[in-house]
Amino acid sequence: MMVPVRCFTCGEVVGEHWEEYSTRTAEGEDAAAVLDDLGLKRHCCRRMLISHKDLVDIVAPYQ
Ligand SMILES: [Zn+2]
Repeated sequence: MMVPVRCFTCGEVVGEHWEEYSTRTAEGEDAAAVLDDLGLKRHCCRRMLISHKDLVDIVAPYQ
């Protein structure tokens, strides 16, 4: 669905980085380099964006 606002493990705010992350990776930038630029150093926070699939626009019409 929507990207979680905070990391499930450590509580760091990660939701604010989703737009930039998804835009830059869609343009072909390396995901690891983008996450480094965004300041996400912990692997728990990095997995929040790497493993996210944005489905809200697909599911919303059926609710
Ligand atoms: Zn974390």
